[in-house]
Amino acid sequence: MNRIGWPLASNRIRRGALNHTFGMVRRNADGSRRAHQGWDFEAPAGHRCYAIADGTIAKVRNVGSYGQQVILRFTHDFDDDGEPDTLYAAYCHLSRIDVTEGQMVTRGQQLGLTGNTGNASSMRGPDQHLHFEIRTVPLPGRGLAGRFSPMVVFGRCPLNEPIRKAVS
Ligand SMILES: [Zn+2]
Repeated sequence: MNRIGWPLASNRIRRGALNHTFGMVRRNADGSRRAHQGWDFEAPAGHRCYAIADGTIAKVRNVGSYGQQVILRFTHDFDDDGEPDTLYAAYCHLSRIDVTEGQMVTRGQQLGLTGNTGNASSMRGPDQHLHFEIRTVPLPGRGLAGRFSPMVVFGRCPLNEPIRKAVS
């Protein structure tokens, strides 16, 4: 069983707001619902990001709305059938990346620093965040396909009180 950690030292959903969690939680100007593909964890630029599990760096990229991103491949038996499932954790809008593709990492290892790259360039104050996704494939398209709520690995969502990373 691959144990799961948290991506930041202090983990709380941006502004404690449901529209920064996973799913059809956002609205367009006309009121129709729109997907948010992951969780936004509150984080000013320059905070350390950690591997949530032992795994391998599948991708390091700097493209589009995600900006600088690290994609970690790891296994986790999320459906509890006794078989490890391969998942990907995407860390986005980073200001610095400290790992390279193909590198093996251990849970808690520093992957980079939070930032405001990609479409987060206008973020200020408490809106600065780590956009974090759990995926079933490394590079899915837009929308929710190829993704799970991060709840499947964390088991709880820090909407109000921050969850602090255990010192290991
Ligand atoms: Zn986001």
